[in-house]
Parts: sequence; C-alpha cells; structure tokens
Amino acid sequence: MTEIKVFCPATIANVSCGFDVLGLALESVGDFMTVRKIPEKTIRISRIVGQNLPLETEKNVSGVAGLALLAKSDYVGGFEIEIDKRIKSGSGIGSSAASSAGAVWAMNELLGKPFSKLELVEFAMQGELLASDMAHADNVAPAIYGGFALVRSYDSLDIIPLPTPAELYATVIHPQIEINTSDSRKILRTSISLAQGIQQWGNLGGLISGLYQNDYNLIGRSLHDHIFEPIRSVLIPGFDEVKTNAIEVGALGCGISGSGPSIFALSKGKHMGQRVADSMKETYSKIGVPFQVHLSKVNTQGVKKIA
Ligand code: ADP
Repeated sequence: MTEIKVFCPATIANVSCGFDVLGLALESVGDFMTVRKIPEKTIRISRIVGQNLPLETEKNVSGVAGLALLAKSDYVGGFEIEIDKRIKSGSGIGSSAASSAGAVWAMNELLGKPFSKLELVEFAMQGELLASDMAHADNVAPAIYGGFALVRSYDSLDIIPLPTPAELYATVIHPQIEINTSDSRKILRTSISLAQGIQQWGNLGGLISGLYQNDYNLIGRSLHDHIFEPIRSVLIPGFDEVKTNAIEVGALGCGISGSGPSIFALSKGKHMGQRVADSMKETYSKIGVPFQVHLSKVNTQGVKKIA
C-alpha cells in the first residue's frame, strides 16, 4: 500500500468535568485526508481544500506530527499529504487534532503499523503543541482510540480508552465566531480551591462510572463544570440560554466543547439528540450570530481508512 484516504473525526474535549483529561470522538463530523509515500525523507503538504491553512510543513499540525513520527521511524522515505478540511479551525471541535491524528494514523498504516496507538498520540500531541502552545491529548487521544478516552497521566503518558453507551448522541452547535485555544487558555486561573476540586473529581468519577454502567442518568448528573465553564462561557454569545433550553427539552447535560465557541450536549437516543438540535437552532436564530448544528453518534472507531 502506497496511498491511503482516511476520515479524521472531530472531537469534543473536556466533556464538562474532564478539563484536559477527557475527550470523545464524533462519527458524522470530520475531515478527510489522503497520505501517500514519497521517496524523499520529508513531509510535503501538497493541497488543502476547504480552508486557508499553511502548506509549510513546520506550520501545519499534520506536518509537525508527521515529522515527529518520521524522527522515530527507520523508514527511509517520506509522505505527501492532501487535506480536505471540513472542520473549521478555532471551532472547539478539534480541527487541529483531526489533522494531527489523521496524518500519523495514516502514516502508521502505510508503514505496516510499527507504532502503538499511544505512540501515535505522542506524535499527534506535537501538532497540538504547535496549534495551542500546549501538547494536550484530550482531542488527539479520542481521535486515535475512538469513543471516550481519558488521559490519566501526562507525566508518563497514560491513555485509558473508556466504553461508549450505545445510545449516546452528541449535538454540537458551532457559532461562527473564532476562539483561539491559546487565547481562551490565557483567561483561565492557574489555581483552584479545594471545594472546586472536590466537585470536579466527584463528577469526573461519576461520568466514567456512568459510561461503564450504561447509566444515562448518572452521566447526566455528572456533566458539570463549575471551574472553567463560568469563565469561558462569557466568550460565547447565548451560552446560558442554549444550555438551559437544551436541558429543558431533555439533554443529559450541556457544556463548552473544548475551548469553545462550540457548545455540546449529550442525549440518550437520536430522537432526543434531534430535539436538542432543534432547540439549539431555535435559541440561536434569535441571537443573530450565524451557526451550524451537528448531530452525531459517538464514534467508537476513531480515525478510519475509507480508501
Ligand atoms: P481547534 O481547537 O478547532 O483545533 P485551535 O485554535 O486549537 O482550533 O487550532 C487551530 C490553529 O492551528 C490555527 O492557528 C491554525 O492555523 C493552526 N493549524 C495548523 N495546521 C492546521 C490544520 N491542519 N488544521 C487545523 N488547524 C491548523
């Protein structure tokens, strides 16, 4: 195999109570990427459609992630990348992560899978470092492992793939304003109180238990973030209204996707996910900011080969 085309899923990081340590992959929202082997030991980005992003290897997250993989590989050649960009950058649903994860996953396939998923996450994190000044893994881990993924430790990277209840749907509204991840990190405090910590780790434990037990009610009770959401939500027009209305129509929970501006809600069943989508559309059409709404199952596979 000398060429592969892959689907690179969008991802929701943090999932309310798991700041920097939890994320999930989406099934029906993502980019496409074609990667082919070339004889020169380099990464070349030959084409990007859908968005104006840098073609220079060192400025594109897929190039940087690919170079990290090449540096650890005994493969004598390199790769050429074409990106069909569907996820807007700065949307908060892992645009940079989709490119980083997709590139290294595809390269690993072309090389006969010499690297583990954990190693692929480490390479892809170099792309995240370029995009947001921090090598966070809560988007690239679910993009590579699929489903929900927990980053138990960054010191010695430890990723725990988590089970996905079969009827879990995500509804995402993307207001068409851009919030840069590194900017939205700057407004956060760097210390929290003990009381805030207790709430947050109680909820994170609850959410993970809910995933293992298929307990949708427990998932809903745990989807809270009392630390970061109050600070970041002020950057998102209509956040409180969207959230109140989504929960009123039956969403299990609702919060900021990654660093925003996208807002996500989780629901039990497609029908409820659609009701939440309708509620988000209705709320947002009154606000006057253009938006897109996505309804998606949780993607349990992660990046996948499509040709
Ligand atoms: P998101 O959270 O949606 O990934 P970020 O603000 O974290 O958005 O990252 C986007 C940044 O990464 C932008 O500055 C963008 O120019 C840069 N970037 C470089 N290469 C890519 C790529 N292939 N896909 C998306 N963003 C990229």
